[in-house]
Amino acid sequence: MRGNPVFIAQHATATCCRGCIEKWHHYPKGIELTQAQQEHLVSVIMEWIKLQIDQ
Ligand SMILES: [Zn+2]
Repeated sequence: MRGNPVFIAQHATATCCRGCIEKWHHYPKGIELTQAQQEHLVSVIMEWIKLQIDQ
């Protein structure tokens, strides 16, 4: 997994696991993410990847 851009992005955006999602995005652990919440997290990852490409 090391070096995988999505994996790096997930760590950079705190979307790597439910613990980080709870801490940084305030979506409580143990409750399934809604469609809108999932889309929000995906868009955060995509924005981060775009920023890396622009650099
Ligand atoms: Zn994590």
